[in-house]
Amino acid sequence: MSVLVAGAGLAGLAAARDLVAHGADVTVVEPRDRVGGRVWTIRDGFADSQHAEAGGDMIDEAQTEIRALAGELGLKLTRILRDGFGYARRDAAGRTRITNGNAARGWDALSERLAGLTRQYRLAEQRWDSPITADLARRSVAQWLDEVRADRDLRATATGLRGFFLADPEELSLVAFVDQFATSDEHASWSMYRIAGGNDRLPAAIAAGLGDRVQFGTELVAISHRGREVRAALKAARTVSQLTCDYMVLAMPATLLRRVPITPALPAQQHDAIARLKYGKATKTLLQFSSRFWRAAGRPRAFGSELPIGAAWEANEDQRGRAGILALLAGGSASDATQTIVAKSGMRGLATSLDWLGSADAELLRSRQVVWEADPWARGGYAYFDPAFDPSLRQWLARPFGRLFFAGEHTSFRWQGYMNGAVESGRRAAAEIEAVHRATT
Ligand SMILES: Cc1cc2nc3c(=O)[nH]c(=O)nc-3n(C[C@H](O)[C@H](O)[C@H](O)COP(=O)(O)OP(=O)(O)OC[C@H]3O[C@@H](n4cnc5c(N)ncnc54)[C@H](O)[C@@H]3O)c2cc1C
Repeated sequence: MSVLVAGAGLAGLAAARDLVAHGADVTVVEPRDRVGGRVWTIRDGFADSQHAEAGGDMIDEAQTEIRALAGELGLKLTRILRDGFGYARRDAAGRTRITNGNAARGWDALSERLAGLTRQYRLAEQRWDSPITADLARRSVAQWLDEVRADRDLRATATGLRGFFLADPEELSLVAFVDQFATSDEHASWSMYRIAGGNDRLPAAIAAGLGDRVQFGTELVAISHRGREVRAALKAARTVSQLTCDYMVLAMPATLLRRVPITPALPAQQHDAIARLKYGKATKTLLQFSSRFWRAAGRPRAFGSELPIGAAWEANEDQRGRAGILALLAGGSASDATQTIVAKSGMRGLATSLDWLGSADAELLRSRQVVWEADPWARGGYAYFDPAFDPSLRQWLARPFGRLFFAGEHTSFRWQGYMNGAVESGRRAAAEIEAVHRATT
C-alpha cells in the first residue's frame, strides 16, 4: 500500500515509521527544510556549544509513548528540574517575589475549588459528548473565577497557567481546566525529562530511518479522494505536482489543515471542528547568561508566573559550562506583552525583568526568540479549547474520513498539547490504516 504523510513533525514521523515497518510505500512531505515541526532545538549561536529548546521541551514521567520510542531509537532521557516549579508574583508594592508556597500548592488550591466540577466530569466518564461537559465547556475560566469569588491567589495561579494552556482565563474554556485536574493523577510523580543532547534528536533519529522518503520544501495544497484512490496536489518551488496514493495521513496543525481544500468535503462537524479549533500564542525566549545566577540553595530552577515574561526555567541544566540558558515561555496575552518589552527595550529589557532572580550582575551573552503564532507552518503554539468550541465536535478531530487519517497533537485526547500526544496520534493513525487495509484486501 502507498501512503502519503503530510507533515514531518513527531506525529507524521511516528506514523511513517510504523507504516514503513509494515511494508508500506511511504512518502512524507514537509514544507520546512527540517524535520521536527514544533520540536526545534536551537544549537546555533550559543557560547560553549550549548543548546536549548525553542518548542517542545519537557517530557513527563507518565508519557510512556514518547519515552518508549526514544528508548527504541537508542536515545537517553535526562532528568531535569528536580526541584519542580516555584511561583513568582508581584506583591502589593509591585515588586516581584518568589512566593513561599510553590506552584504545586497553587495547583492544589485550584484542584480543591474545582473538586465538585471534576466529580461531575468524572461521572460523565470524561466524554466530550455529555451535557455535563457541554455545560462546563461554555463557561470561561474567568467566569468561573468570578462565580466562586476567587481571591487574588487563586486568580494569580489561574492567570499563570496561560504559560501552560497558552490561553488567558478569559479565552480558555472551563472544561480545559477541569479535564486537566480530572486526568492528572494526584499521586503521579512530577519528574520531568528531556532527551539527552536535545529533543530534536528524536525526530532526527526517526527521519534517519526514513531516508529519502522525506521530501523537504514540499507543501500539501489540495486533496481529492474517491473510492480507493487519494490524490494530493503538492507544491514545491512554486510548481504544483500530483501524487496518487492509497491512504493519506494529515499530520499538520489544524491551522494549516483548514487551508487545504478537500474534495469531496469533510462531514460538516469534522470541517467545523478543524475550522474552529483555537491555537494559543506562545513566545519562547532563550537567554544565555555568563553565569547561572538563578541557582540558589533550596530554590527551584523553574517558576510559573503571572508576569508579562511568562514562565521561566533553566533550559540546559544538563550541559556543561559556566554559562547557562534561561527559557521564558510567554503564553496567551503574555506573548504580546513579551514582544512589547522586546520592541521597547530589546532582549536586555527581558533580562532586566528577571532581577527578582538575581540577574543584576549577569552578562547577557546571546539570545534567541521564537514567536510561534508568527511561524507560517505552525500559526500558534498548540491547540486550546475556547468557550465557543462545541465539545461534542472534539472527537471529529481524530476521526478518519474515507482514506484520510488524522494525526497531530490536537487530535490526542489524553495528551493534547504534548509531544507524547503527537507521537501517540501518529502511531494510532498508522494502526488505523493497517486495520482498514486488512479489512479491505
Ligand atoms: C513553545 C512551545 C512549548 C512546548 N512545550 C512542550 C513541552 O514542554 N512538552 C511537550 O510535551 N510539548 C510541548 N509543546 C508541544 C509540542 O511541541 C507539540 O505538541 C508537538 O511537537 C506537535 O507535534 P505535531 O507532529 O502534532 O505537529 P508539528 O510539530 O507542528 O508538525 C507538523 C508538521 O506539518 C508541517 N506542515 C504544515 N503545513 C503543511 C502542509 N501544508 N503540508 C505538509 N506539511 C505541513 C509543519 O511544517 C510541521 O513540520 C510545546 C510547543 C510549543 C510551541
